[in-house]
Amino acid sequence: MNPLKRLENELKNCVKCGACRAHCPIFSAVGREPVSARGKIALARAALSGQLSLDARTREVMSKCLLCGRCVEKCANDVPTDLIVLAAREALASKKGITLFHRLAGFLLRNRALLSGGASLASLFGPLLFRKVPATSGLRLRFPLPFIGNQRSFTKIASKPFLARHPEIIHGAPGRPRIVYFVGCMTNFLYPEIGEAAVTLLKSLGCTVIIPKNQQCCGFPALSGGDLDTFRELAERNLAALEKHQADYIMTACASCGGAFHRMYPRILGERFPELAERFQALAEKAVDASVLLQKLGLNPDRSVAPLEKVTYHDPCHLRSRGIIHQPRELLRAVPGLSLVEMSKADSCCGLGGTFTVHHYGTSMAINSGKTAAIKSTGAQTVVTGCPGCMLQISDGLQQAGSRARVRHTLEILARNISKKSP
Ligand code: SF4
Ligand code: SF4
Repeated sequence: MNPLKRLENELKNCVKCGACRAHCPIFSAVGREPVSARGKIALARAALSGQLSLDARTREVMSKCLLCGRCVEKCANDVPTDLIVLAAREALASKKGITLFHRLAGFLLRNRALLSGGASLASLFGPLLFRKVPATSGLRLRFPLPFIGNQRSFTKIASKPFLARHPEIIHGAPGRPRIVYFVGCMTNFLYPEIGEAAVTLLKSLGCTVIIPKNQQCCGFPALSGGDLDTFRELAERNLAALEKHQADYIMTACASCGGAFHRMYPRILGERFPELAERFQALAEKAVDASVLLQKLGLNPDRSVAPLEKVTYHDPCHLRSRGIIHQPRELLRAVPGLSLVEMSKADSCCGLGGTFTVHHYGTSMAINSGKTAAIKSTGAQTVVTGCPGCMLQISDGLQQAGSRARVRHTLEILARNISKKSP
């Protein structure tokens, strides 16, 4: 069945009012109707009715979406444009084949040992591959690589992935919550310091921290390329890895992984595979973003440590769209010495869009330029956010603009001020 057929009724709900258009970052950057949310819906309808063929032109248009969900939030008729774009990509993948990049990504994501081995090699040979960007801690490729060129600045690949650093279970105080920590690929391979901060914070609250060794990528990169088979395989492996620990909560500290659990697993896989729907729903109900969980558990920063620092906060799309806006700010405001200044349009997309940035780096950075300018105008020393993907993108923009501002995850800021002793 054409995947768009499942969304036929929701497609019909679009009344072409254009309310979503003004909020679509791609439309703002490109300025052409077909790439706006409304334009993509019109294309999807035409493709479903057979008036438009699923060809290279349609693929190009459908690839121009960050899956930021802004259009969904602004639509009075609840038209799920993000799901429609994903269904169109899936239809294109089954008709025209999965792109080379997504085939390679899917292969690596399904073969975790190979991915880990590749990351270790890249870490080992880092100095041969990357050069340090002067005046910053970022890295730039010495020569262009397929798909990514050599413009983008990177962070160092971890010499030891986070998942290899801790035992599977770190026991906490009796009676305290059992937390399964879903780490996510970017924290595992690029930002293990976020994982360390998560462990420090949860231990300080007396929680039992469970870090399942066999957890997988959430599957978002595969989904965004229309590779439903890989998405489903990874999601099922995650179900098995996370369910068996009977946790009170499943914590994510990556906005996109959380978005996959809350929206994509139940809406895309649960509806397609009814035999799994209940399990995906249970996972969605138990999954919680770290900022929400820490607030719920009563995190209280240690007031003996008070570095003076001006910070600004960027809202990741996949937290904003779930209404997680105040919690990280409230946690940051409770940290003594921190002065939180708001940037303009803090809730606008950073331009990463997962694999969007691989195919459309120019547009991705054009969108990011507004974010960079907004950050610079605050004069903040540190940009804080709740998504490792946003961290990579924001760092890239700041480094290319010559800014010395640091980019940190909310958990890193909170953990700095927490005593490492359990209560
Ligand atoms: S998706 Fe919603 S906001 Fe956008 S044009 Fe259609 S009805 Fe209007
Ligand atoms: S999800 Fe974001 S980028 Fe995609 S159409 Fe909607 S607003 Fe535009």
